[in-house]
Amino acid sequence: MSEQRSRPRIPDQIQRELWARAAGRCEFRGCNELLYKDELTQQRSNLAVISHIVAFSEDGPRGDPVRSKELEKDIRNLMLTCRVHGKIVDDKEKVSDYPEKLLLEFKREHEQRIRMLTEAKENAQTHVLLLQVSIDARDFQIDQTAAFRAILPYYPAEEDAWVIDLSGLNISAESDGFFQVTAESIAIQTREFLRRHPCGQSMKNISVFALAPVPLLVHFGHLLGDLHHIDLYQRHRDSQEWTWKTEEEAEQFYEVVEPDVDDDGRANIALILAVSTSIGREKVDAYVGEDAIVYEIRASNPSVDFLRSRKRLEMFGYEVRRLLALIREAHGHDRTVHLFASVPAPVAIEFGRAVKAFDPPFVIYEYQKANHRYIPALIINTHQT
Ligand SMILES: [Zn+2]
Repeated sequence: MSEQRSRPRIPDQIQRELWARAAGRCEFRGCNELLYKDELTQQRSNLAVISHIVAFSEDGPRGDPVRSKELEKDIRNLMLTCRVHGKIVDDKEKVSDYPEKLLLEFKREHEQRIRMLTEAKENAQTHVLLLQVSIDARDFQIDQTAAFRAILPYYPAEEDAWVIDLSGLNISAESDGFFQVTAESIAIQTREFLRRHPCGQSMKNISVFALAPVPLLVHFGHLLGDLHHIDLYQRHRDSQEWTWKTEEEAEQFYEVVEPDVDDDGRANIALILAVSTSIGREKVDAYVGEDAIVYEIRASNPSVDFLRSRKRLEMFGYEVRRLLALIREAHGHDRTVHLFASVPAPVAIEFGRAVKAFDPPFVIYEYQKANHRYIPALIINTHQT
């Protein structure tokens, strides 16, 4: 540092704001060390270093001929750190391990958490629940660290997520009994989770991460029900990350098809949910007949990347609850509805949550990739106790 420009003096006001934003703790990811007193001796002393993300000198770490000067006193470019982490941030050799983008992430994460924790009106913790089931005989492990990243600025309420793990099962989804066995196991484990986390005034919210075949996701959502406050996440195909990609305003994301027919009580009733791909009527007719009464919720442009924002999920939840009320009104609640869905995990779960005891039973079909057809897999909401 000595051979370069001398360190600029950070104005007191900026220093104070940075201390406040960091709540007097090191902002380096995972450190969180208290910087105004020595933990060992309990002596008050200033152990903090104010580190530059883009160095104040263009020759310094992440330095830049223009931006170094511009950002030298900008709070957005400053991190409060302990001495150890100050050294790491200031080390030119370590720039490839700690690029600007990553350090900005550390800073944002820390400051968001502090804000969240000190804003008394909202609980800053969430219970993290993972469900993993083999899909097409392939196993998926949900990365807990990635899940904990996605819930930011919330904190996980427990050190480890609650995992319902049905990966590594030795039966293929195509064999008889697969869905019954896995559904039963999911039911037992989900009830146990809910028993340990009763909903009530002090209930924190629940964050759900799931990878499983669609019928099991619907079943899982139905078990979770509508009472808790639940945040659903999806793994984005390209990044493999669970963090929502974007925030957007409500729009007409879905088209709802409501057939205008007289129900003579004999035709089958079907519901198509087409979000990831469209579903041709011929696929459905094979099971329910050409005279079936078919309802549909269709994404404006179905694609596996359609569910980019929480808003799109929220709007689906709204449309599906409205449509369920309509189906109930038109056909009562005893006629079985055949469900064909090509949807991302959170949409399947949200559908299950929306189905109430007074709704009709649903037969949920599973799409078999190998032979390009749907097979009936599970029935939910059978009105039996
Ligand atoms: Zn530190």
